[in-house]
Amino acid sequence: MKFMQKKLAGLIIITLSAIISLDIFLSSNNIQTTTLKDRNDSIDLPILSDYSQFSEGNFTGYEFSKYNLSVYLDEDTSTVAGNLTVDYYNDDPINFTQIPFHIYVSGMEYDQRPGYIEILNVTTLEDPREELDYDFFSNIQLMWVNLTEILEPGNRTSFMISFNTTLPDGGIDRANEHGLDSNSARIFKFANCYPQPCVYDEFDGWNIDPYILTGDPFYFDMVYYDLIINVPENMTVAATGELLDSVTIGGRTIHHYNPHLPVREVTFSASRYFIVETYTIPDLNIKVSTYFLNKSSWLWHDFALNVTVDSASLYYITFGNYCYSTFNVVQEYTQHGGMEYPLQVYATESADSYTGSYGPYWYLETIIAHETAHQWFYNLLGVDEVDWGFLDEGIVCWVTDWYKDVFHPDWYIFEPYWGLDRLRHYSLVSGLPNKINQSVPDCAISGTDYYYLGYTKANTILEKLRTTIGHEDFIEGLSYFFQDYYFEIADITDLQIAFETVVGYSLDWFFFPWFDNPYLPKYDITNAIYDGTSKIINITITDINEIVNPYPYSQQVPIEIYSTGSSLLFSDIEWINSTTTLTIQLETTPQRVLLDYSDFVLVQFADYGLDYIETTEITLINMPKPKISGYNISIILLTLGILGLIILIKKFDLTQNE
Ligand SMILES: [Zn+2]
Repeated sequence: MKFMQKKLAGLIIITLSAIISLDIFLSSNNIQTTTLKDRNDSIDLPILSDYSQFSEGNFTGYEFSKYNLSVYLDEDTSTVAGNLTVDYYNDDPINFTQIPFHIYVSGMEYDQRPGYIEILNVTTLEDPREELDYDFFSNIQLMWVNLTEILEPGNRTSFMISFNTTLPDGGIDRANEHGLDSNSARIFKFANCYPQPCVYDEFDGWNIDPYILTGDPFYFDMVYYDLIINVPENMTVAATGELLDSVTIGGRTIHHYNPHLPVREVTFSASRYFIVETYTIPDLNIKVSTYFLNKSSWLWHDFALNVTVDSASLYYITFGNYCYSTFNVVQEYTQHGGMEYPLQVYATESADSYTGSYGPYWYLETIIAHETAHQWFYNLLGVDEVDWGFLDEGIVCWVTDWYKDVFHPDWYIFEPYWGLDRLRHYSLVSGLPNKINQSVPDCAISGTDYYYLGYTKANTILEKLRTTIGHEDFIEGLSYFFQDYYFEIADITDLQIAFETVVGYSLDWFFFPWFDNPYLPKYDITNAIYDGTSKIINITITDINEIVNPYPYSQQVPIEIYSTGSSLLFSDIEWINSTTTLTIQLETTPQRVLLDYSDFVLVQFADYGLDYIETTEITLINMPKPKISGYNISIILLTLGILGLIILIKKFDLTQNE
């Protein structure tokens, strides 16, 4: 563990923004008057008032709903019986008569046994308990609890939902029971498995979207949870929150977990075969634990814990306070790499047999660094992942690459950026539009590949922003975004405003085209005219995709001009604002004009293995009359005249001598 401490100390010294963040997060009691950093220019940053409330875990004046979830795992039937006690706080500006809950597990994939939630009853909490009406729609994974009285803004209502969840089988989806006891490999994973309250917001009213197989389409408010998990004795449990106590009675163990502060949801996993490794990060006071099967010990032992500590520490000191006391990384059976939940994330056991060119260590490290980043951009800062799923995913993908750049500079993540090539060829290869700013369901309607948007394009556009505004402002913008929406919900406009606050000018010109256009720019050098008298070349660069995109692009593009002998006459970086005509002074006649894409120029581009476009079609006008050496007519005439004169003189001489 010395290795970790040493690395952490080095990290704190390296990262400028980390030092700034530490200042804000760890020490100050007067954060309300603290700006992000002392700047030489005069930008007034907003006061981080909300953040100061939450940063120390002081929620005085803020009300949240409170849920107690109590579950009982039946190992033989792979079912979980549960009671969810709901103390619902209406923080929205309208009256409610019904409250909807997602019952996602019935939409999940499975091998033989489908997942299902059976609602046993919904009752009041008072004695004697009265049954409440509810409507249940299994096909859209939704139930509505009908209230007996109108719930006005600022008021609370409480009731209890009793349910029985059947875990789907197979290693496919977010919840499952999979693996064999005979192989010491059976794991129960309870995720999105209880009735989860929908969010009401100004955009959609109640967000009641069904379970969508694409992306991670979840959206939850922050809520206080208390979690009781009853499992067979000798089963190891990993769950959201701090383990407060465990009691074993009659062959069963009852664990009590509590995250202490609001979270967006809870999860647990249980297995008789988990190996557990734990380390408490000094200063940050986070108890980090990994849970894995013996078959994967060669890969996970120490390594997974190191990666978790490194990534959590980097994100904490850069972006802000992880205000909980525990964080778990748990091995799972799944077809995807991993999945994020508050205080507990999952990583696939298939990393063991990963055959990609970078190998299983690279893959597991990528998954852990990625899912850990979701604690900052998903749980602490929340996103409607149905409407803006690309937002936290794009940020987390960029942050994962940055983690790699910090800890593995020899991996050359940013030079050249790995997503660049795929971006250039994407629309030409797939024929698909690729507007980022659209919901997961809209992607299905428009025929857009959501995974490409969320996991390749959004993070590449963020890298474009970093190269445009500079690394320090970029990190500061992300940190500011995180702090400003700590415990709240943010969207793409909020991200733009956070960066604008840091750089001090509007970024409409960047965000609108790069996030809202369906296609990248595609440049062509359509006109190049050189005036030989004025020594000026006018070059028109046309964005062919201008007509299919609602917003004009602006970006800097290196341009080079060569003479007939391939000598470089001109080289500079120019702003190409949509279709642009450049005027350049040139003393020598040009022969070739070239746009250089080898740097971070984002274009739709057809050629593989080529990183420029060029033209030799340059129109020459007002050129001086050509001089033909040795055939100057006036010299010829003069010579002939002189010769004629000599002949005449000779003749005259001869006549005189006669
Ligand atoms: Zn993710």
